[in-house]
Amino acid sequence: PIRVRYAPSPTGHLHIGNARTALFNYLFARHNNGTMVLRIEDTDTKRNIADGEKSQIENLHWLGIDWDEGPDVGGDFGPYRQSERKDIYQKYIQELVEKGDAYESYKTEEELQADRDAQKAAHEAPHYVYEYEGLSAEDKQAKIDEAKAKGLKPVIRFHIPADHTYEWDDIVKGDISIDGNTIGGDFVIQKADGMPTYNFAVVIDDHLMEISHVLRGDDHIANTPKQIAIYEALGWDVPVFGHMTLIINGETGKKLSKRDESVLQFIEQYRELGYLPDAMFNFITLLGWSPVGEDEIFTKKEFIEQFDEKRLSKSPARFDKKKLEWVNNQYIKKADVNELTALSLNNLIESGRIQKDPDPKTIEWARQLISLYIPQMSYTGQISELSDIFFTEPAPLDDKEQAELEKDGARPVIEAIQTKLQGLDTFSAYFINQLVNEVRQETGVKGRKLYMPIRIATTRVMHGPQLAETIELIGRDQTLKNIASVLS
Ligand code: GLU
Repeated sequence: PIRVRYAPSPTGHLHIGNARTALFNYLFARHNNGTMVLRIEDTDTKRNIADGEKSQIENLHWLGIDWDEGPDVGGDFGPYRQSERKDIYQKYIQELVEKGDAYESYKTEEELQADRDAQKAAHEAPHYVYEYEGLSAEDKQAKIDEAKAKGLKPVIRFHIPADHTYEWDDIVKGDISIDGNTIGGDFVIQKADGMPTYNFAVVIDDHLMEISHVLRGDDHIANTPKQIAIYEALGWDVPVFGHMTLIINGETGKKLSKRDESVLQFIEQYRELGYLPDAMFNFITLLGWSPVGEDEIFTKKEFIEQFDEKRLSKSPARFDKKKLEWVNNQYIKKADVNELTALSLNNLIESGRIQKDPDPKTIEWARQLISLYIPQMSYTGQISELSDIFFTEPAPLDDKEQAELEKDGARPVIEAIQTKLQGLDTFSAYFINQLVNEVRQETGVKGRKLYMPIRIATTRVMHGPQLAETIELIGRDQTLKNIASVLS
C-alpha cells in the first residue's frame, strides 16, 4: 500500500516550499488511494517555536490538505511527534552500538574545529576524522574512560562503511549515485542530550510507519545516502525516494530563500491579504508539476484525479508573483461575493475606510464596492488601495486629465450629463446608463469621446471599473460635486 508523509519541523510557519511538499504528498496519496501521514519532527528543541505545530496544522487545513494519521488525529503508527518517540530511537541506537555500526564519540568542538582547519589548509572537503583510529580495544576503552572522567558527554556516531556507493532510482531525478567517501564521514545520530538527529529519526520513523514513498525537497538529497546507510545497517528495505526541485524567484532567478523580501513566502501572509485557499492550492500545485494540456485552473478533485508523479518537473520551479495574482483573480471571479466581502471587511476597517463593527448598510455598500472591483482585484486585501476614489477628496486634475476635458465636444457632454443626473429620481446604475445613452443620442458624441469626459468629471480619474456602477456608488451628492468642480 502507498503511504506517504509530510514531516514538518515546527521551527517556523508554513513556508511555500513546505506547503508544496505537503501538497504533492497529499495529491500522490489521494490519487493512489493511499495514506497520508503528518509527522512532527521536533527533535531540534532549540529551534522549535511556540505554536509551530499548531500553525503548521492550521495553515495546511486552510489550504485544504488533510491527513489520515497524525498527532491530532491519531493512527496505528503513533506517536506522531518525534519528541514522544525517544524510547523507540534508543532501542535502535543500542542495536547499532552493539553491532559495532555506531559508537560513542567524545571529540570536543575545539577538536572538530582543528580537524576542519587542517582539512581546509590541505584543500580537503570537511569530514569527520575517526578518533580511535589504530587504537587497540584496550586503548580505545582507556580513551573513553578518560573522557568520561572529565565529565564529557558523548554523541553517538554512525560508522559509514568505506568505499560504498549509495544509489537510488529517484522518481523525480532519475538514477542518483553518491560515493559514500564524499559524504563527510561518520555522522552523529544521537546528540549529547540524548536526542536523535534528523537523519537517524527519519529512518526509524519512515520504516516503522511503513512509509512507501519519501517525497521531499531536493535540499535533502545530501541526506539520503546517510539515511540509506542506516537502512542497510538495520537490514531494512529502503523506501522509494523522490526529490522535488527547488523553487526560484521568477524575477531574480535565484533560489527562493527566506531572506528574500521581494516575495511573501509564508502561507499565512497570503491568507492575511485575502488570497483564496483554493487559488493557493492551485498555484502551488503548478510549482514544479504540470498537467497534460494547456489548462491551468483545476479544482482539488481534478488535481487528485490527474496527479501523476512522472510529471514532477526536473528543472527548478519559477515562483511568479504575477501568475499567482492571475490565478487568484480567476478564483475571485468565481467566488461568492458575500464571501469576498467578508474577507475584505478587515482591510477596509484597518485602512480606516469603514468603521469597526460595520452596520448592515455599510456591509451592503462594501459588497457593491467589491463587486465593482472583482475584475481587477488580484486579492481582496487590495480593495482599499483600488477604491481610493470613494474615500479621499478628489485630487486636482493632472495635465492629462485636463487635456481630455479641453478636447472638442467634451464640455457639452459633461453639461448634458450634469443636467440629467440632477434630475434623476433613482440614482442607480441602470438609469445612469440610460442617461449616458440619451447624451450620446442628443450630442452625437460616442465611444471614448463620450465616456472619457463623463468618467473624469464624475469620478475624477481616467481609469476605473464599470462607469455607471461606479457613479452609483459614489452617490448623487459627491458625483454632482465632482462634476461642478471640473466645470468651474
Ligand atoms: N523535517 C524535515 C524538514 O522539515 C523533513 C525532511 C524529510 O521529509 O525527510 O525538512
